[in-house]
Amino acid sequence: MRNIVVQKFGGTSVADTDKIKNVAKAVIREKSLGNNVVVVVSAMGHTTDVLVKLANEITSNPSGREMDMLLSTGEGVTIALLAMALQAQGCNAVSMNAMQVGIITENVHSKARILDIKTDKIYQHLDNGEVVVIAGFQGVTNDFEITTLGRGGSDTSAVALAGALNAKRCDIYTDVNGVYTTDPRIVPHATRLKEISYEEMMELANGGANVLHPRAVETATIHKTPVRVRSTFKLEDAGTLILGVDEMELHRPVTGVALDMSQLRIVVCDVPDNPGVAAALFDSLANENISIDMIIQSYARKDLNTNDIAFTIDKADLNSALKVLDKLKSTINYSNVFVDDKIAKLSAVGAGMVGRPGIAAKMFRTLANLGINIKMISTSEIKISCLVDKDNADEAVSALHSVFGLDSSEIAEVKGDLPNI
Ligand code: ADP
Ligand code: ASP
Ligand code: MG
Repeated sequence: MRNIVVQKFGGTSVADTDKIKNVAKAVIREKSLGNNVVVVVSAMGHTTDVLVKLANEITSNPSGREMDMLLSTGEGVTIALLAMALQAQGCNAVSMNAMQVGIITENVHSKARILDIKTDKIYQHLDNGEVVVIAGFQGVTNDFEITTLGRGGSDTSAVALAGALNAKRCDIYTDVNGVYTTDPRIVPHATRLKEISYEEMMELANGGANVLHPRAVETATIHKTPVRVRSTFKLEDAGTLILGVDEMELHRPVTGVALDMSQLRIVVCDVPDNPGVAAALFDSLANENISIDMIIQSYARKDLNTNDIAFTIDKADLNSALKVLDKLKSTINYSNVFVDDKIAKLSAVGAGMVGRPGIAAKMFRTLANLGINIKMISTSEIKISCLVDKDNADEAVSALHSVFGLDSSEIAEVKGDLPNI
């Protein structure tokens, strides 16, 4: 048993060299508790946003390969600086990028999934008494092509490494001291959760709570890795522990509310009402690696034998989706495509919803009282999502947060500034 702890530090935590020196102290503190430490870091501050902006100054349509070559450089800077900071504080440390470790992903750019992680070199360094500092977000294909895991993907690198190394814990250090009942930047009276189940965290992350990358939660669930979200700026604070639902007491029907502003809605109008049309449409989108979130097919108009199909995708996938739809026009024979990018998805999440009727009605009634129109609805056993106009988003989140009894008397503390580019 090697007693491995994986620590992950996000962009705000490593935003400048003083912060990197502080992170080194947090790493040394963990090592002094008798643990072998593997550290995963993000790019410094808003570096990744700056790199995206540079690419967009060159072209509005950069190739996926070159975009990954560019974006993966951010994390490369942080690993070297943190390893230097550790060495300067008397701690043996070595930095490694994804290629050196062998973080093998599928051959997909900008949102690759991890297929395998080689552990031999990491173990060698740990057995030499070194801290291993690994670049998050990056991957490499079997053909040595550089990939990235999607924005926010360093969380996934950390949790996947923790699983592969059989770590006893993965600590996600960030600019907020845990998972709150909603984004504390929107509702300052959000309540910090002491613990949350993997299933609820998965729904919150998928619903837009970017405190954890959805695939990080998925990976933690598979390996049953205990994940703790905690603050880099308040190391003594226990943060929030993510664990199995059977280990928790369920007090409230709704545990949290999430907001996602990263999607848009596409409506394909007057689609012939024939078997196989939806399959052809969604097959073609899937072949381009475009993930679909909500789908609604309208009731068929029997006189015209057509209906409308509406679905939501990530804004980043718009160009590829429009290309796919253009190619399908002659086969599917729809009339036109309508794009609505002024939408926000609200999700109320809670394992305590199961078997308690009336939660959806309460959500719809709260939105109705504010005069907010619902454009789409989707549900799972422990989640209700509504699509609304993006101008109503903050007001709706605050109202739902109150109505489900989640407000706290304390003001939440968030350290990082929002990107201003
Ligand atoms: P990092 O750079 O450390 O990965 P992120 O910006 O990706 O940090 O994630 C932390 C941010 O997530 C917080 O500053 C907060 O605004 C946001 N957030 C959204 N939903 C939640 C939530 N339910 N609980 C805590 N933070 C949340
Ligand atoms: N640097 C990447 C991003 O900004 C990955 C991460 O921080 O998790 O999205
Ligand atoms: Mg993040």
